[in-house]
Amino acid sequence: MNLLEVDGLVKHFPIREGAVLRRTVGQVHAVDGVSLTLAPGETLGLVGEAGCGKSTLARCIAGLHPVTAGKVSFDGQDITNLSRSAMRPFRRDIQVMFQDPYGSLNPRRRVGSIIADPLVIHGVGTPGERRRAVSELMERVGLDPGHHNRFPAEFSGGQRQRIGVARALALKPRLIICDEPVSALDVSIQAQILNLLKDLQNDLGLTYLFIAHDLSVVRHVSDRIAVMYLGRVAELARADELYEHPRHPYSDALLAATAVADPDVADRRARVVLTGDVPSPVDPPSGCRFHPRCPRAREVCAIRQPALEGTTHLTACHFPIGPDSPMGPDFPIGPDSPTRPDDERPYGEGGAGWR
Ligand code: SF4
Repeated sequence: MNLLEVDGLVKHFPIREGAVLRRTVGQVHAVDGVSLTLAPGETLGLVGEAGCGKSTLARCIAGLHPVTAGKVSFDGQDITNLSRSAMRPFRRDIQVMFQDPYGSLNPRRRVGSIIADPLVIHGVGTPGERRRAVSELMERVGLDPGHHNRFPAEFSGGQRQRIGVARALALKPRLIICDEPVSALDVSIQAQILNLLKDLQNDLGLTYLFIAHDLSVVRHVSDRIAVMYLGRVAELARADELYEHPRHPYSDALLAATAVADPDVADRRARVVLTGDVPSPVDPPSGCRFHPRCPRAREVCAIRQPALEGTTHLTACHFPIGPDSPMGPDFPIGPDSPTRPDDERPYGEGGAGWR
């Protein structure tokens, strides 16, 4: 049985105007119909540009935001929009690790008490037992337990993220939502934190939802990867499969931005460059939300939303990349490519997407 099941999750934030009446004048479509599953002990990477809704989705799963529609099940139990008290037992099992190791720790509190917070809030153990638990947790994440009386400012960025890991582990959770846990760290420190998370997963059987904006970070820790674009899942596949054979043009463009060792692969990917910004989630594009930036877009893309289809490799695209694509295996190569099926410009503005 899956540990986590998310079914058609929608999260819209109302935009209100007026000091007194607070009329709703619009909606921010942060997450729009996302479904995914997580098996026990699995790591699912969730990737996309800033503003794609991945952190909002994570907060909805953790019960930190009420959802507009859809369902979240944890260990077979429906936890959608539970009250604070009803959610309390699940909070022990679902922990969130935040991105900013500098901003997520109160600078005026000693790290020992920061790590002990979840134990205190949930009434776990006596003060003496909590002190022992904090020492064990600090040791487990590679910190000196003798430093429990120090303040966060006395630790480096990597050490502060280890404090965040220790705090997330305090209640022995089953699922940890890692919200960009290494993006504020240097590359060498990133590797240490990723290795620590992997070791903890092996030792404790943890399940991770690992959020990042960089595919190269999630590849090495994820069993499967879901690529999000403007509130929807564009592609979901095994990590190696998605990395080697991306089928969605957006995944392909994200991969083009990552470093690869194989020069042939690097050469092909270098030609896929995304232009423009992610459109506003207040007024998302019709049909496929990626169509204004997509190099493969055709008229139908602006009209009809593609369904997320497939068995193990799921793609939401009318013209996915691959040998079975309606446009052929090599399309697109470039704006003047002889493999283009006709001389239409891509549907995006003047061929936006090509460089
Ligand atoms: Fe979307 Fe069409 Fe591009 Fe596929 S080809 S990603 S459906 S715009």
